[in-house]
Amino acid sequence: MFGNRTDTENEDAASLLYSSLVSGAGVTIFISMYLVFNFQSPQTLSFKLIWISLLFFITLIRLGDYLYWKRSHTDRHYRPKKAILRYITGTLLTVFMLAFYCVYMFRYSNDIETSVIILTLSALAGGAASVLSANKLIAILYPVILILPASIALYLSPSEYQNNFGVLGFIFCTVMVGVASKAADFTSQAIALKNENIDLINHMEEKVSRRTETIYQLSNIDPLTGLYNRSAFMQKLAQQLKRCKSNNSSLALLFIDLDGFKKINDTLGHRFGDELLKRTATRIEQYLVDKQLVCRWGGDEFLVACIDTDEQQALDYATKLIEHISLPYNFENSNLSIGATTGIALFPKHAQLADLLIQYADTAMYVQKKAQPNIARCFDQAMGEQIQREHLLKVNLAGAISNNQLRMVYQPIVNAQTEAVVAFEALLRWKLNDKEISPAEFIGIAEQHGLINSIGNWVLQQSCATAATWCGGNQSLSPQVSVNVSILQFNNDDFIEVVNSALSDSKLSSDKLIVEITESIFAENKQKVLQHVRQLQAIGVKVSIDDFGSEYSSLSVVQNLAADTIKIDREFIMSIDNGGLAIIEAVKEIADKLNYSVIAEGVETYEQAGLLKNLGIDMLQGYYYSKPMEADLVDAYLASTTVISQNTKLEARS
Ligand code: C2E
Ligand code: CA
Ligand code: CA
Repeated sequence: MFGNRTDTENEDAASLLYSSLVSGAGVTIFISMYLVFNFQSPQTLSFKLIWISLLFFITLIRLGDYLYWKRSHTDRHYRPKKAILRYITGTLLTVFMLAFYCVYMFRYSNDIETSVIILTLSALAGGAASVLSANKLIAILYPVILILPASIALYLSPSEYQNNFGVLGFIFCTVMVGVASKAADFTSQAIALKNENIDLINHMEEKVSRRTETIYQLSNIDPLTGLYNRSAFMQKLAQQLKRCKSNNSSLALLFIDLDGFKKINDTLGHRFGDELLKRTATRIEQYLVDKQLVCRWGGDEFLVACIDTDEQQALDYATKLIEHISLPYNFENSNLSIGATTGIALFPKHAQLADLLIQYADTAMYVQKKAQPNIARCFDQAMGEQIQREHLLKVNLAGAISNNQLRMVYQPIVNAQTEAVVAFEALLRWKLNDKEISPAEFIGIAEQHGLINSIGNWVLQQSCATAATWCGGNQSLSPQVSVNVSILQFNNDDFIEVVNSALSDSKLSSDKLIVEITESIFAENKQKVLQHVRQLQAIGVKVSIDDFGSEYSSLSVVQNLAADTIKIDREFIMSIDNGGLAIIEAVKEIADKLNYSVIAEGVETYEQAGLLKNLGIDMLQGYYYSKPMEADLVDAYLASTTVISQNTKLEARS
């Protein structure tokens, strides 16, 4: 009765059958009423009334069954086979009723009524072939039950007229069985095909979702550590912040940066470094509390977002996390540990947006690492103001040259013995909105944001042009100019060209120019520095090592560099009475051995000047002699001081 259909196929068959139940029952009732009431005869009236009442009753039950099916077919416990059985029963009852009516009525009906009944039956049988095609059994039974008994009755009737109809009925019945059977097969195939398609779609969906998962893994997960990567974390963090906003809850963002990872990576190799990152990631993950997000931000940086966490809780948690990360690891039978510095920023206290929170946590980490690594620190107002100020300066610095906000001032450097001016150090000044910004502040920003080259070129041009005008342009009498150059600019391939063009544009003699580079060059590309020092010296420009002793100095580099002058850092002159003197003495001794002349800068008092002179320091610079002065005051200053002589001018003692 159900073939070997699946449950879903049976569901479809039941749906097809029931979907035309109401219209089918309506048509049957309408036709039956027509047959019953169109041909009135007192003989058959009571039969007809009983019959039509019974049919009504059956139809009502079928309509009830329809309503029941409609309600239950989406149910979990719905059984399509049972529904089909009920449907078949209802249909069989109806068709038996119709068949019985015909067989009974033929005896009493005249030719016209007989013809109308036969026509009606044929129409019903024809319609049923398609309406019942969802179940082959009922599709075939319906025309057979409807037509076969009627045809037999007609054939056996004494009326010849009816006999003919009987024969036609047999033929029609056979045809209808064929048609119904074909229609049922066709519907069956259509149902099977539809379900095959659904299967196919489900299969494809599964495949697509598997592939989506792989793509998700690839684009959201850091392959080394298995943690979220940057973009996935940003997405999750933004969602989390939205939730925090609507719940009025807080969030702490931790920026964790391993201490000294680069060194381990460089010395022990990348395999080792990767393993260390993996293990650190595992440790961070192990330490997570509920609802915390974590990612590898890049390199040796990890971010953790802690929900419902205030400043103190975040600091406590971060401190413990650092301790956990810093426990020794065992690698191939040797122990190794790595620390981590953590910066914390809070939502909503410090920032509302994900990228700002990360930036602030990064800043806090950076500030803390510079002060003392392996400690957690929270972002604070001062850091915020610092960032804002740096931003303001960065934005304005780009237009500082074109807006004529930059100028040079000049501070004399004197011969320690004769106090004659031998040179001026050119110092840059920036006036923004009537406020002087210290170069100690803005040079770093210019370096960070790629503005140092244009500013540095301007400084060189300006300083050379001004120096060329000193002493009425008489360069045989005029002092030298000592220009500070950032190491970033000094190492540029075109630096020598820049110097050459500053000299040729200003017509300043190359021996009147000194280039000051800080000792941080020792950490840079030594070969490049050395090459440029040689090239400058070859064209007659002198090189001075600034702030000597303030950072890590390497005597061998000082020796190899063979520059011309060492400027002892101001710190040592300031602390000349507290141990500074011994260091100045030592520097002087080294300088003598390596053939450098020595400048002491930051000389503020008569006593300092006296002590430095006694030590045999060659040149002195500082407020004691003069503060840096505006360019147009230099000539008057020179006129009022000792006239320099050629043999005391600042140069190497070779
Ligand atoms: P620096 O090269 O060590 O310059 C000397 C600094 O010491 C100058 O500060 C100067 O005004 C100050 N100074 C001089 N004598 C005394 C003194 O007796 N006592 C005290 N307390 N300070 C004294 P300034 O002009 O603020 O420059 C600060 C730093 O900015 C410079 O340190 C230099 O590193 C950088 N800088 C200045 N101008 C330029 C420039 O044109 N290019 C580059 N790249 N850096 C520059
Ligand atoms: Ca300097
Ligand atoms: Ca200096």
